[in-house]
Amino acid sequence: MSAEPAIALSPKTWDEIKTTTCYMCACRCGIKVYLKDGTVTYIDGNRDHPVNKGVICGKGAAGIKQHYSPGRLSKPLIRVGERGSGEFREIEWEEALQTATQWLGTTRKTDPKKLAFFTGRDQSQGLTGWWATQFGTPNYAAHGGFCSVNMAAAGLYTFGGSFWEFGEPDWKHTKYFLLFGVAEDHGSNPIKAGLGKLKKRGAKFVSVNPIKTGYSAIADEWVGVRPGTDGLFVGALIHELLNAGQIDGDYLLRYTNSPWLIIENPGAPDHGLFARNAAGETLVWDGHQKVEVPTSDHNAARSLMGRYTLADGRKVATSFQLIAERYLASENAPDSVAERCGVPADTIRRIAAELAHVAFKEQITLDVPWTDHTGRRHEKMIGRPIAMHAMRGISAHANGFQTCRAIHLLQIMLGTIDVPGGFRYKAPFPRPIPPHVKPTGKPSQIFPGEPLPGPPLGFVTGPEDLLLADDGSAQRIDKAYSWDAPIAAHGMMHMVITNAAKRDPYGVDVLFMYMANMSWNSAMNIPDTLKYLTAKDEQTGDYVIPKIIYSDAYASEMVHYADLILPDTTYLERWDCISMLDRPISEADGPADSIRQPVVEPDRDVRPFQSVLLDLGARLGLPGMTTPEGKPRYPGGYPDYIVNHERAPGIGPLVGFRGVDGSLSGKGAPNPNQLQAYIDNGCHWFYELPDEHKYFKHVNKGYLEWATGFGLIGKPEPVIHQLYCEPLQKFRLAAEGHGDIQPPDSHRARIIEAFDPIPFWYPPFEGDMVDETTYPMHAVTQRPMAMYHSWGSQNAWLRQILGRNWLYIAKERAQTLGIADGDWVTVTSHHGEIKGQAKLMNGVNPDTVWTWNAIGKRSGTWGLKQDAPEAKKGFLLNHLISELLPKRDGGYRFSNSDPVTGQAAWYDLRVRVEKAADQRAVSLPQFPPLKNLGVGR
Ligand code: SF4
Repeated sequence: MSAEPAIALSPKTWDEIKTTTCYMCACRCGIKVYLKDGTVTYIDGNRDHPVNKGVICGKGAAGIKQHYSPGRLSKPLIRVGERGSGEFREIEWEEALQTATQWLGTTRKTDPKKLAFFTGRDQSQGLTGWWATQFGTPNYAAHGGFCSVNMAAAGLYTFGGSFWEFGEPDWKHTKYFLLFGVAEDHGSNPIKAGLGKLKKRGAKFVSVNPIKTGYSAIADEWVGVRPGTDGLFVGALIHELLNAGQIDGDYLLRYTNSPWLIIENPGAPDHGLFARNAAGETLVWDGHQKVEVPTSDHNAARSLMGRYTLADGRKVATSFQLIAERYLASENAPDSVAERCGVPADTIRRIAAELAHVAFKEQITLDVPWTDHTGRRHEKMIGRPIAMHAMRGISAHANGFQTCRAIHLLQIMLGTIDVPGGFRYKAPFPRPIPPHVKPTGKPSQIFPGEPLPGPPLGFVTGPEDLLLADDGSAQRIDKAYSWDAPIAAHGMMHMVITNAAKRDPYGVDVLFMYMANMSWNSAMNIPDTLKYLTAKDEQTGDYVIPKIIYSDAYASEMVHYADLILPDTTYLERWDCISMLDRPISEADGPADSIRQPVVEPDRDVRPFQSVLLDLGARLGLPGMTTPEGKPRYPGGYPDYIVNHERAPGIGPLVGFRGVDGSLSGKGAPNPNQLQAYIDNGCHWFYELPDEHKYFKHVNKGYLEWATGFGLIGKPEPVIHQLYCEPLQKFRLAAEGHGDIQPPDSHRARIIEAFDPIPFWYPPFEGDMVDETTYPMHAVTQRPMAMYHSWGSQNAWLRQILGRNWLYIAKERAQTLGIADGDWVTVTSHHGEIKGQAKLMNGVNPDTVWTWNAIGKRSGTWGLKQDAPEAKKGFLLNHLISELLPKRDGGYRFSNSDPVTGQAAWYDLRVRVEKAADQRAVSLPQFPPLKNLGVGR
């Protein structure tokens, strides 16, 4: 007889389950939220969701503790003491919105560009960017400029797509996977699941990363490259492949600009540009007819390499001729780069041979007929099963754009973009190279009380597209799209506070930010940033940055330095759309988007930021947010906008369940029941492409026609990979003295060097500008697998995994420095000094130290106790990083950024590490504690 248990061993902990989308990292997995009596009791993965197929990671499951964090804000606040004092008065929403409207309204009526509107890891950039456009300010961007713009821009200017969430390896078919600089928080569930598939099939996984943690720890081979030298390693691989003739010539001739002819006329204004005929068509050389023909002549016997003379006498070379000459040069040989990049020459040669073997001896053939853009039918899809992926380890260097372009060159030479086994686009990519959107915000485009005629962010193709003031100086507050960073496609958020405080190029009236912790872990040079946020005008006694409005769900460090706080909800309390207009959740097999629905009602006086933004827009009378009668266009807030907003006729934030009856996808009239249709479908929408559209999307006639009809691209034109990047050469020519729009003399040399149309490597600037014997080591950071946002450190469950950080050093190197495991050490850069605790490890490049980023907190913030380990033992490298480079040639101080894209060069940091004289267990610097402003106060 079995006894009944005295206690319920498995009590039912829920009475309702709702689906929504996770926000604990950028992967945006589908989740099921279990509720009991309206309280969240459990979060699980949604098995039907295209991104995670039921998998939930530790972060996602710990979302409960994020939702119930004691660090949540609970009421609008207005500052009553000095900035940084924590003296605020709670106010009602009406007062908060009226105050914001008055501040913003005054700016809009006088000079709209004096609003600087910047957001952090916000997943609603389709809305926020449009709001800035309607307001009329060019000073808008999200956090891409200090995250990954080098990846995005390098990809979009080379192959019309990009790494990160905009594409993925063909996990099902790839046989060799090269992963560059990807920390373990990136890609999370999708990469983990993908690596599981590779391991199961026995595919080889090589991780190129100074640190052997996370994904690198399970790699078949770890290549512990020195930070900032990946471009040398990749260049040597290209050298080896070219030397051995192991390239996919057919792919290069058909789908890339390798055979396009380049004018060779040194010193002339057309040098290095594509040769064009009288009709403006680009040209290739027909080897049979021995004459130039337009690239649109698909029957020509195209020459991949060679130098020729055109009928009109112009001297030309094919772009691949120039590329091959560069990479075959001895400076790119493995023996030339091995010592500098820290990878033995034999290893480079072996990896190149492995790539060649897999690409050309182990090709994959799918029995799927398809037709290319020229109308040529292919009976099979042939793939070279090598995939590559990269992220911030490549991106966050001053040479990151060109390094990422070099990786794309390697991929394309092997014929591995969007082929079976290669790297695959995700919708809305591929797009034209670069996308046909120019940045807006020239002086002639900004008027008081008027919207901008286009979006603030876009893609320049020459000096004429820059946003320059009439005197040639920067037009944007962050100096994006100026000669400082001409292709700053994501803005330069890391420069906003510095420039605004220095009124360089001008002062702003209002700084408006959303979930961007710019007074702490998102700032370079924190001590000076705090000075800038609190600096006062000597004449007036007012703050130099007169008004700061900030919205966040949590009591972060930044809250203390704002004047007006608009408290946001948690991700479980609001509507959101993961939109095709922004960064959707598409899979390589087809487009997908999703929503968040509120699964619980807020228990505090908080409002979702997106609805607040629309409310402010209506109060300000912004055209897109107001009816002709002056009423709010979206009185129902963000869900109203998600359903009813049309960016162009039939195109809205969500592509699924469109049309009045919900029967259309892509384009279609608004559907009043669209959100319910998403909820009924598990809060997502996915369309699987037919097999004949799944690969070669950039040149796949059927796919391109479908994508045009669906609204992803304007025309069904092929996306020909631009190995040779003509827009870069146009900037270079300007710097050499050609054309009406030229850089100042202080900028010419660096533009000439960095804007090379062929990828190349140059040393990261900081390492090149400081004394390497004084600062012999590199210092980098990464986010841990258990945390993605800085807000992870307030999470009661995740803090138990990681409540503080250490400085990791290679064991042997530590011995030479006299540092033992657990010693407190000082880390000194050209800019500052910090103290943290060392841990010794194997598996890190011996010239590199590293730590977990954004664990260190300022005492009193995020609802943590003042003596929390995050505050007392945690530390940040940010204090060591200057947002400005040291002075060069006695003059201008450039920002610490990639000169092409403005990407923040976080990982160029050079340091000296020594055992600290003071071994007391406290990290330095310690700033005065801030008041606890969270609900748990
Ligand atoms: S991988 Fe990211 S989005 Fe997916 S469950 Fe984990 S935290 Fe959430």
